[in-house]
Amino acid sequence: MKIKVAKCAGFCFGVKRAINVAEGALKGLKDGDKIYSLGALIHNPQAVEELFKKGLQVVTSPEKINSGTVIISSHGAPVEALEEIKKKKLKLVDATCPFVKYAQNIVRELKKDGYRIIIVGDSVHPEVRALNSIAGKSRKSKKLGIISQTTQNKVNYINEIQKILNEDFSEVKIFNTICNDTSKRQSATRSLLKDCDLMIVIGGKNSANTKRLWQICKESGVDSFHIETELELKKVWFKGKSCIGITSGASTPDSMVKKIIERIRRF
Ligand code: SF4
Repeated sequence: MKIKVAKCAGFCFGVKRAINVAEGALKGLKDGDKIYSLGALIHNPQAVEELFKKGLQVVTSPEKINSGTVIISSHGAPVEALEEIKKKKLKLVDATCPFVKYAQNIVRELKKDGYRIIIVGDSVHPEVRALNSIAGKSRKSKKLGIISQTTQNKVNYINEIQKILNEDFSEVKIFNTICNDTSKRQSATRSLLKDCDLMIVIGGKNSANTKRLWQICKESGVDSFHIETELELKKVWFKGKSCIGITSGASTPDSMVKKIIERIRRF
């Protein structure tokens, strides 16, 4: 039985950056200082747990915080939350991924120029909620601006654009805001699917980009499982399989990928 690992496994640039920012802030912590992340810093429960042990607490809103430092996660934060942090004079550390910032800046420009803004993505994901808060109330306009969540599946995005283009408009601007890492990870996963008869997708069950990888695997018809840790592996999955493909989301630590490969080898 062969094991093939996707070329882009392990943390992406934005996640590495967010963890470095948080660890830097945690190092400077003095007795009695409190440090929070607004929402999970990254969408990997095991990595978030490691940061919690070092002192980083997760809060869903700045409402309950009266002092200390708040780290904005790699997904960005809604305008209202940022205003509240400013009003309360809390120290703000921004770990928003630059690719997410890029999408946010496009939304600001479209809003300024009077476009109706369509964001293709998961409406409850923190990145999309932040983008929506920047876009504000939907406006009636014949000018349309379309962007996607940074971790969107390219095929999904193209399908959605085609549907939107059936609407009546005078002008449309379409932006490719899918980040480079997401595109590369999806291509690397598609390559593995050509050779493998079983795919293991590793990453947070709450991670949008991991869920997209799993969707790509499932749609290919190859047997696929989405797991967070080695404890979820089942020996029976590997019976009769000749090539196992391993792919992982952008917030999956390398150490977890290694643990899972070791356990598969033991099977
Ligand atoms: S997946 Fe892309 S947008 Fe999200 S944190 Fe990583 S590099 Fe940034």
